[in-house]
Amino acid sequence: PPDVETLGRSTWTLLHSIAAAYPPVPTPAEQSDLRGFMRLFSKLYPCWVCAEDFQRYMARKEIRVRSRDEFGNWLCEAHNEVNKKLGKPVFDCGLWEERWRVGWRD
Ligand code: FAD
Repeated sequence: PPDVETLGRSTWTLLHSIAAAYPPVPTPAEQSDLRGFMRLFSKLYPCWVCAEDFQRYMARKEIRVRSRDEFGNWLCEAHNEVNKKLGKPVFDCGLWEERWRVGWRD
């Protein structure tokens, strides 16, 4: 299996890309799909210590899925929580859409 770092980098790319593709005005069905996806993701993520912490985070900070902007910021804050835990720099969530939807190079 990929190491925790490679898996993490790829997974954040997927999750932030899902946020970027999420509608600005999602239907109730789209909101419920995203909620369900994230709940199952937090159970199935194959780094078990990461998954446990992420589930605890989701229990504390209720997921927000009412718009692209809401979910993008919720996810950015969740990612920052992991950044802090690992001693990585905190990301400016005002820039998440520029990073993940419009796009820039690392
Ligand atoms: P990453 O953190 O993977 O970030 C990739 C890119 O995303 C960055 O280069 C930056 O451009 C951008 N970015 C950074 N922060 C944000 C943000 N807040 N919002 C939007 N974009 C951002 N690793 C562990 O060792 N222990 C854990 O408990 C752990 N838990 C994890 C939980 C989840 C749900 C996920 C997906 C990953 C977890 N990881 C964990 C992996 C860890 O978060 C990193 O992915 C890994 O350490 C590689 O880090 P990186 O420096 O390449 O950048």
